[in-house]
Amino acid sequence: MKIAVYPGSFDPITNGHLDIIERGAKVFDELIVAVLVNVEKKGLFNVDERVKLIEKVTKNYKNVKVESFNGLLIDFMKEKNANVILKGLRAVSDFEYEFQMALMNNKLDPEVETVFMMTNAQYSYLSSSAVKQVAKFGGCIKELVPDEIIPDVIKKIKGE
Ligand code: ADP
Repeated sequence: MKIAVYPGSFDPITNGHLDIIERGAKVFDELIVAVLVNVEKKGLFNVDERVKLIEKVTKNYKNVKVESFNGLLIDFMKEKNANVILKGLRAVSDFEYEFQMALMNNKLDPEVETVFMMTNAQYSYLSSSAVKQVAKFGGCIKELVPDEIIPDVIKKIKGE
């Protein structure tokens, strides 16, 4: 059974992330979306809230699970019996960082493969931080994040 882990901050999940999840779920037997707990970086949503938002938009995918992790991704992978890291690649700007991470993870555990999926052209400009910027200044975030979570994002940005 091929279990892949798709790690990230997902603060919040965007349509770009969801596209990678949908495509990844077709390629692997099981896909674990893993929300990274980063103690140094306070996000807009806390980790439990991010997990809940992802669960909300992936509930119809039977082979997708959502979890959070802290520490080394490689240790989380071992715990889950997973040996593929799934990553999305947007542009050249993602490449250098992802290249370094992939090599580092492979050095830490040579059994682990990182698989990259090219962004859908439609979402190549999309990032969680761009969504937060747009929402902060009252711009429309439809088509940037899944419809079901638009009210959650707006409410959070307004500090309600
Ligand atoms: P961001 O905060 O920049 O949106 P994350 O850390 O949440 O990024 O991203 C997790 C993973 O999803 C990374 O592999 C990232 O390259 C990928 N990703 C993020 N946005 C997109 C997108 N629009 N298209 C494809 N992959 C994406």
